[in-house]
Amino acid sequence: AKGEGRNTYRFFAPVMNQQVSERLMMENSLRHALRRQELELYFQPQYSFEQKRLVGCEALLRWNSPEGLVMPDRFIPLAEETGLIIPIGAWVLQESCRQARHWQTLYGSDLSIAVNVSAVQFRPELVADVQHGLESSGLAPEYLVLEVTESVLMTDVDASVRLLEELRGLGLRIALDDFGTGYASLAYLKRFSLDKLKIDRTFIMGIPDDNDDMAITSSIIDIARHLGLETVAEGVETEEHVNFLTSAGCNLAQGYFFDRPLPQSQFEQRLKDKGLL
Ligand code: C2E
Ligand code: CA
Ligand code: CA
Ligand code: CA
Repeated sequence: AKGEGRNTYRFFAPVMNQQVSERLMMENSLRHALRRQELELYFQPQYSFEQKRLVGCEALLRWNSPEGLVMPDRFIPLAEETGLIIPIGAWVLQESCRQARHWQTLYGSDLSIAVNVSAVQFRPELVADVQHGLESSGLAPEYLVLEVTESVLMTDVDASVRLLEELRGLGLRIALDDFGTGYASLAYLKRFSLDKLKIDRTFIMGIPDDNDDMAITSSIIDIARHLGLETVAEGVETEEHVNFLTSAGCNLAQGYFFDRPLPQSQFEQRLKDKGLL
């Protein structure tokens, strides 16, 4: 058995070694990223169709690693596996609250800020991290939105129901991210304490050519309205998207048609250009 194990090892060794060492290098590097101040938040504006202005933004994490800019899809999974998402997530919360509060005091803005919460972070201790972010910044809770996905909530439905209620009890709002792509049934929309639905980009992409995507999008908007939830369309890239979403009664939009996620200084410039601050 021992010999067999060695053969198996030898057979896989070259590939394994490369993957494992790449991962270890990235992990080691990510471990120092917070302390070395390599993490940065970008902000993507959210527009209100009704108010015809920018009313909020989503904070999106970037890693300025020694190897160059790393996008979240590449390092968030690693941060989740290693547990590093806990201190990183707490930093994102604190920094987002601080930034939103800064825009309010400096410019008198009333922008809200949406923060992504990973499955690993979604546990009772999250409440303390959120409270710390709010208290250390002085941001009023109604300006903070937490974005969670269906899969985050579905791992333990009863625990999620309780945690959502506790978080909303602080006065903040909850958005269900990537809505329509997970496996939550519509019945859960009733049980979970939510404020907004973010319609996943994959549905918006099909507008105006795919009738199914348009039917799904307008149905989500109708259901949300009946349940008293706000709708946010993600990945809004074209004028056709805007026209369809306006007539379907969508509340908010986010996407390249308006703005890409912007570094802090560019985001502030954008606000000044639009006379919103
Ligand atoms: P998400 O929460 O669904 O964020 C939206 C993603 O769509 C962002 O990618 C954004 O840059 C991109 N996007 C926005 N508008 C458009 C558009 O018009 N067209 C297209 N094609 N894409 C658009 P990004 O910034 O690369 O983030 C990817 C994912 O990483 C996020 O997906 C979120 O799940 C995760 N993420 C980002 N920041 C954080 C964070 O601070 N904490 C956690 N836990 N996850 C984060
Ligand atoms: Ca999000
Ligand atoms: Ca999303
Ligand atoms: Ca997504």
